[in-house]
Amino acid sequence: MSEPVVIKPYLRLSGLEPLVVRPETNFVNIGERTNVTGSKKFARLVRDGKYEEALSVARQQVENGAQVLDVNMDDAMLEGITAMTTFLNLLQSEPDIARIPIMIDSSKFEIIEAGLKCVQGKCIVNSISMKEGEEKFIRQAEICKMFGASVIVMAFDEQGQADTKERKIEISHKAYKILTQKVGYDPQDIIFDPNIFAIATGIEEHNNYAVDFIEATKEIKRLMPLTRISGGVSNVSFSFRGNDHVREAMHSVFLYHAIKAGMDMGIVNAGQLVVYDEIDPKLRQLCEDVILNRNNDNNEATEKLIAFAETVKAKGKEVVKDNAWRNSSVEERLTHSLVNGITDFIDIDTEEARLKYPRPLDVIEGPLMDGMNVVGDLFGAGKMFLPQVVKSARVMKKSVAILTPYIEAAKSEVSDAPTILLATVKGDVHDIGKNIVGVVLGCNGYNIKDLGVMVPTDKILDEAVKCGAAMVGVSGLITPSLDEMVHVAHEMKRRGMNLPLLIGGATTSRMHTAVKIAPQYDHGVVHVLDASRSVTVAGALLNEQKEKFLEGISAEYQKLKTDFENKKPVKQYISYEAAQSNKVKIDWENYAAPVPSFTGTKIFREYDLKEIRQYIDWKPFFIAWELHGNFPQILTDEKVGVEATKLFNDANALLDQIVAEKGVTAHGVIGFWQANTTTPDTIEVKNGGSKIRLESLRQQIKKAPGQPNLSLADFIAPQTTGVQDYMGAFSVTIKGIEPHIKKFEAEHDDYNKITMQALCDRLVEAFAECLHQRTRKEFWGYVKEEALSNEELIKEKYQGIRPAPGYPACPDHLEKYKLFNLLGGEEATGIHLTESLAMYPASSVCGWYFSHPQSQYFGVGKIQQDQFEDYVKRSGSGEEEMQRWLRPVLE
Ligand code: SAH
Repeated sequence: MSEPVVIKPYLRLSGLEPLVVRPETNFVNIGERTNVTGSKKFARLVRDGKYEEALSVARQQVENGAQVLDVNMDDAMLEGITAMTTFLNLLQSEPDIARIPIMIDSSKFEIIEAGLKCVQGKCIVNSISMKEGEEKFIRQAEICKMFGASVIVMAFDEQGQADTKERKIEISHKAYKILTQKVGYDPQDIIFDPNIFAIATGIEEHNNYAVDFIEATKEIKRLMPLTRISGGVSNVSFSFRGNDHVREAMHSVFLYHAIKAGMDMGIVNAGQLVVYDEIDPKLRQLCEDVILNRNNDNNEATEKLIAFAETVKAKGKEVVKDNAWRNSSVEERLTHSLVNGITDFIDIDTEEARLKYPRPLDVIEGPLMDGMNVVGDLFGAGKMFLPQVVKSARVMKKSVAILTPYIEAAKSEVSDAPTILLATVKGDVHDIGKNIVGVVLGCNGYNIKDLGVMVPTDKILDEAVKCGAAMVGVSGLITPSLDEMVHVAHEMKRRGMNLPLLIGGATTSRMHTAVKIAPQYDHGVVHVLDASRSVTVAGALLNEQKEKFLEGISAEYQKLKTDFENKKPVKQYISYEAAQSNKVKIDWENYAAPVPSFTGTKIFREYDLKEIRQYIDWKPFFIAWELHGNFPQILTDEKVGVEATKLFNDANALLDQIVAEKGVTAHGVIGFWQANTTTPDTIEVKNGGSKIRLESLRQQIKKAPGQPNLSLADFIAPQTTGVQDYMGAFSVTIKGIEPHIKKFEAEHDDYNKITMQALCDRLVEAFAECLHQRTRKEFWGYVKEEALSNEELIKEKYQGIRPAPGYPACPDHLEKYKLFNLLGGEEATGIHLTESLAMYPASSVCGWYFSHPQSQYFGVGKIQQDQFEDYVKRSGSGEEEMQRWLRPVLE
């Protein structure tokens, strides 16, 4: 009798032909080019409905040796279900392609399900995961099983994508148990994707990602031997985009090690894999170091590979871009350039269009506006993000700049687009937000007249009349600017104007607008939260619903105002005297005040930018671009990750250049002085022979028992204790941005202009962080052994604080004069204080240093009349003036 037939537990896939993955099977290549997120060409073909050509991309993959075909239609511009269904149905009737199994790839399960309905044979679903919880995971797995598909499980749970070896293993193992025990999957039908992330990004935390993948692979195969491991290989080299030579070498080296560890299959460009042994030995060595994270302290290996990559580029080995779109009509090419933010061909395409159309203005009103409308729609639908829009605007502006001389020569034509006038108010120097709003509105067809920063009210209003503006937008960052805005509204009424007034900027709020600004002016005051919102608001103010829109806003603000006024008595306050006796309790008797290594000041000129950049906190950089999320997770975020990464790479490239060329310079000053309190809220500082009194404000809200009413003065020893205490101060600035801004403006390049501004803001904050750390470890030296990561520094895990005048713990901007005088005035760093006490250059930061372990940030909150009067007396300023500087803390 013969032996019964045993069906071995192998992964068995099929198209028209079977593909059995046996233990001895070589690495399985999954063709990646039929993926709209990875191939612009394929994306365009599908978008244009050119399915025949799209099929030829698939055919090429098969011819180049792909054994499975990855099909992905996740593109913002595509109706994914239709695209997937159409393409797969067509593909099934091409025997030379349909011969191999399909991998249905989407992050949307409904697209996967649509795909499952189309394929014959046994396919792979890429992917399902526990990112939305177990229940959903099980449901999706059951559907895949019903269709007889094998599944890729991505190492992803509700906490996010697994990045460490441990989490990769843990999540995979958990998914395995669920799939085999609850859903009834055969182990051999399960494929794990333990996430291949980009390495050599310059971020330390990313350096071990490839090692984590490789080691997790080993362990997953040990724990669950029948399962398979897959991954998207090109991710690993993402930071070398544009340099395929280096990328291919990295892929090959990565696979060499990952396959040894047990990786069975991967999404690759089958035609482009180089043979490991044929890689230039030097390049191979460098790739090896980067992938295995060897010899990589301080990113050393990364830096070396980057340097090598540069030489390859210089040799012109840079690989051809996907330029098939160049064969389409000039209108399509212009739209393509606009939507994708490509400036390379805008000159020739604009010229071609100019010759083709009867009038140059027709080019703007025709193809350019059509393209911008696509951009506007995608942005409005949340499918495009601010950096992309600004890049599109750059293309638009360059094209318009080419056409303008011809339009002017013809004279007869005038654009009838409505004009919006924008300005940062008097005394304020901040304009990133306003610049972004200008670009976004410009993209939406408005004529933008931007008066710049520090613009007096009269000038704003005169210009508005002169240019026939349809509305005025004012912006500001610091609190004194709020009063300026009230003044603008007041003046508009006095002049009998009737244009709507838009209010924006970091310090503004809907509440302040409703309570203080709107009551000044009857023809429309609207708070605009961010650039995305500005488009809707401007649109509403210019169509026939304007009156209705304004009535709605007015009613809303009226209600806010009434609520605000009625809420007043809810909070309970105590007398200033009672607050002072409830100060922070500090045991001064047993306190040894640390003595700084010097008193007086120390100036730093042209501080090393390389050192400073290590301290950058990137999160606010992305917020400036309206990309919200934590760093570095935002780089791999499902929705904005791709754009965030592009932005991050562009910013770093610009930063590399600034650092290398000393394109800007960093100057700073720190100082320490003997200090003691002489009243509960007065700190007396000894500066050489003279004494300077710093005045603090104290919380007056009624606190829970045991909670102190805080004042910064609490953290300095009272004179009566006999303890000689100290305090410090700093100011730092980044100088030299102007020529860059001018250059970018001349090039119509808002994208780089705004990136540059945002970068200088980042650098100055990083510089403050850097000097603060050196102060703790070295200059003041009260924590000599501190060893905190940049993340911990950003989270302020250290001892001591650096409160900034104008911020919640010390809201009086006037104290900045004292701070600057102590530090040696304008000469020390070149920072100039405007009449609103904003600092110029805009990228400047200053603050006090407190070292006491109990010192902390807080908000003073609202102060009462008794404290206000006392404060006015102590500070020697007039009551009216003080009202302006203390406005956030006065009712
Ligand atoms: N990592 C951030 C740091 C700047 S914001 C960045 O790069 O943008 C934090 C700073 O704001 C603090 O260092 C301090 O100077 C100031 N600050 C924050 N809260 C404050 C408060 N309540 N009172 C006074 N200053 C405050």
